[in-house]
Amino acid sequence: MQSETELRAVWEAYWDAHYEDGRQARRVRAVATDYPVKRGVVVSYPELLDAGVSERELRTRPDRTLGMGVETFGSFVRDLDLDDVWRRSFDVMILHVDDLPGGFKMFDTNLMAHLNELVQAEVTFDGATERISDLMEAAFVCTTGHVTRVHQPGRRRRDIDHCPDCGDPVFLEERESLFAEIQRAPVSGPGFDRITAILGGRRWKGLSITEGDTAVVNGIPRADFREDSTHGSAYFDVLHVEVEEDLPF
Ligand SMILES: [Zn+2]
Repeated sequence: MQSETELRAVWEAYWDAHYEDGRQARRVRAVATDYPVKRGVVVSYPELLDAGVSERELRTRPDRTLGMGVETFGSFVRDLDLDDVWRRSFDVMILHVDDLPGGFKMFDTNLMAHLNELVQAEVTFDGATERISDLMEAAFVCTTGHVTRVHQPGRRRRDIDHCPDCGDPVFLEERESLFAEIQRAPVSGPGFDRITAILGGRRWKGLSITEGDTAVVNGIPRADFREDSTHGSAYFDVLHVEVEEDLPF
């Protein structure tokens, strides 16, 4: 396993190289300043490998590998001397890994055998995508008017009951909170049937999906376990989508 130090060095090299590409640089700056509303950055698999990322680690421990990418992104953009850079962690940032080679295709037919791994799968959409808003940062306001912002990195909402400044009860103020738009759709594929695919991060502009469309997706199968239940509900955390074009007949 690559050590933390090695992995950190690899990602620092990656961000340096990535930023030299002008178009990528613009996106990096946009996320640095407009996070969490903008939170997706495309990262290229061949370039990750060039920088020294281990293919095996990326496949089997994507959260650790990509997590370091997110962590180093924060320090990288803070060194760029931009105005208004997001000051806290970039925890809900999404790295859209594209150009995965065939080695990431699922080699057996049980998605759950690949829980928390990075896989590539051919899927069929069982319905159109639905747009939902995802709470990124909740603003809690007390009666005196103190605002407390709580970052929401996970799927379960983090709440506070009392104002840290004066101790009064607080309520969630939606107008002060930050939301990102995500999309979700039911998908089926080899070994899974109608599970929810979550398309977060970018707005997936230009992506129009209708029932019956097929696509190659890169993503991480996950299960969400409620505190007291052994039954997790599975979903597919999608990092990249390549919709297959209709063949002309
Ligand atoms: Zn207060």
